[in-house]
Amino acid sequence: MHTLETKISALDKVGLATARKLKILGLDTVEDLLWHLPFRYEDYSAQAKIVDLVVGQTVNIVGQVEILQNKKSPRRRLNITEALISDETGQLRVVWFNQPFIARNLKVGDTVSFAGKVTEDYSGLQLSSPAYEKVYQGQGVNTQGIVPVYHLTNGVTEKQLRYLLKQVIGLTKEIVDWLPTEIVERQKLLKLSDALRLIHFPKTQAEIELAKKRLGFDELFLVQLRAQLIREELEHDEAPVITFSEDKIKELVKSLSFDLTKSQRQATWEIIKDLEKPTPMARLLEGDVGSGKTLVAMMALYNAVQAGYQGALMVPTAILANQHYATAKKLLEPLGVNVGLMTGSKKVASIKDKVESKIAKKLDTNYILLDTDVTIGTQALIQPTVKFKKLGLVVIDEQHRFGVDQRKMLLANSGLAPQVPHLLSMTATPIPRSLALALYGDLDISIINEMPANRKIIKTKVVTEFERQKAYEFIRSQIRDGRQVFVICPLVDPSDVSGAKSVKEEYEKLNNEIFPDLSVALLHGKMKPKEKDAVMASFVNKESMILVATSVIEVGVDVPNATIMMIEGAERFGLAQLHQFRGRVGRGEHQSYCFLFASEDAAGGVRRLKAMEDYHDGFTLSKIDLKFRGPGEVYGTLQKGFFNLKIASLFDLPLMKSAKTEAEMIVQCMKNKDLGIDELYPLLNNELGSWENRAHLE
Ligand code: ADP
Ligand code: MG
Repeated sequence: MHTLETKISALDKVGLATARKLKILGLDTVEDLLWHLPFRYEDYSAQAKIVDLVVGQTVNIVGQVEILQNKKSPRRRLNITEALISDETGQLRVVWFNQPFIARNLKVGDTVSFAGKVTEDYSGLQLSSPAYEKVYQGQGVNTQGIVPVYHLTNGVTEKQLRYLLKQVIGLTKEIVDWLPTEIVERQKLLKLSDALRLIHFPKTQAEIELAKKRLGFDELFLVQLRAQLIREELEHDEAPVITFSEDKIKELVKSLSFDLTKSQRQATWEIIKDLEKPTPMARLLEGDVGSGKTLVAMMALYNAVQAGYQGALMVPTAILANQHYATAKKLLEPLGVNVGLMTGSKKVASIKDKVESKIAKKLDTNYILLDTDVTIGTQALIQPTVKFKKLGLVVIDEQHRFGVDQRKMLLANSGLAPQVPHLLSMTATPIPRSLALALYGDLDISIINEMPANRKIIKTKVVTEFERQKAYEFIRSQIRDGRQVFVICPLVDPSDVSGAKSVKEEYEKLNNEIFPDLSVALLHGKMKPKEKDAVMASFVNKESMILVATSVIEVGVDVPNATIMMIEGAERFGLAQLHQFRGRVGRGEHQSYCFLFASEDAAGGVRRLKAMEDYHDGFTLSKIDLKFRGPGEVYGTLQKGFFNLKIASLFDLPLMKSAKTEAEMIVQCMKNKDLGIDELYPLLNNELGSWENRAHLE
């Protein structure tokens, strides 16, 4: 008998090879398999007759194979499999490309169920590259009714996965429902086991909706519950009172060569007010790239130092850390603040190499004690081997939120215990305020919604293939004037996570064919941090004039001399992301430009990209993107990567609201009874724990 713990490899007809491939997807046991959810459905429930077909329809047709043959197309050297099928109403041509094995799988006389799209060519209607399965008496699983579609790795087919799921779907009833029964009833939700069964094998759209509602509710509920538990905990935590050093801050502002924007002033004020309270600040500072968030953070850090505390700024990459380190030194050192940098390895010995010795004392072999006023660094800042003397404020850039473990680590290593440091998160991801409020139940929010005055608009152009040469000539003339160029390439091959492959091709092309006389540099995710830093440094020093990088690399470095941002395959990016790339230029005195290259077949995409020519703020652009692509695409990475939502949409406000209400009731109940969640709802508590683990692993 199989159970939820049964290994997939022990199921009927699973080869070792298939089991290994499924493992790449993280699927090891039956339970994993059941939680591998479809990401969309094909609806073939409309079973059509050949006579009724219309171009553009997605249909299921059952017919008999009359003729079946493989051909080669003379010009394109494609292998074409052609079939003629018939039902009682007529005949229809079916074609597949480069799948010659189909002619072996089917034979004349078979009754076959086809599912796919009706297209038209010179010889009339046809079904091109449909899914197919032979039918005997019963129903098909792969081509009839509503068929789920899964994300898969190379070499595992949808058919195989559905076959496996069919074997074990009955085991859904073993899955423990951790959601308190009163919530299931109040919200009229399906039982977890039913939801899981129906998400894989729905008979109607209504069943899909019900299943999604339950699974989506679970996700949003966990997000909300976690946020509120943290909020609740924060209210009990104590933080140091950091008083406002008004004169000092005024002095800092006076040392700038520009005036603060109104939003910067407002945000700084909100932060300063938070710091004066004896409870820890938990604030999110949101603002477009270049809107001046870093400066706001610097003022807050300076204020903390004046009150006798240390400050830390944590950023995602070493390159960025270096940049912010330079900024902080320039800004704060003249005011008597000592600034340190810490990136890299986890070993105490190597940390010691990375920090200037005057700022760190090595106490024993187990940890080092940071002595600097303000330390800029990567994740390396928050780890067991790094301790602070008196860390009053931590700022974290582009990570939205502190993880549970990070918070614990800070608690232990800040040197303040039992107090905890104040926390400020910063992000350039444009999330509408209403959404942010609903999502970040545990954070207060400040928004910078204006750019510094006198910022020049970056002239932006969508470049078609036939204007490409002209764009290259323009780029060449800019380089002749001494300017530099960024080139960003999309990930073409999804298995190429570091982007090394696509970016190398582009690099070869530019370096060998287009600009053979200029020095072109290459940056991608497979390079070691040291190599990356060296490449960046050579670009900053103008040893290379063109820098080709992948989209996965955060080129957050300020290179005021770079005036051109050139983006290949621009249609593959969201507008907000393109806007972020674009923000990498226009940082100096010279007019800057952004060229968006789109492939020819991206016709609809080009219209969307045109918005980049007319709009220059992230909020507007992501709103436009929403219209074109919908929330799933626009907030997809945020949704999956950050909130770990697989089913629920961030935009399902009614479901979000009920999840929030239920979470509030749980927390209220804990307060009333003065019991922990582990005592009140042990199953829920377990689920919360493993959910947090999962979210962290992904
Ligand atoms: P962000 O962190 O939001 O991307 P930064 O703080 O790095 O933005 O600011 C981008 C650039 O703008 C920096 O060179 C900074 O010195 C400058 N800057 C910041 N605030 C202002 C302002 N109010 N007026 C003019 N320039 C500013
Ligand atoms: Mg920044």
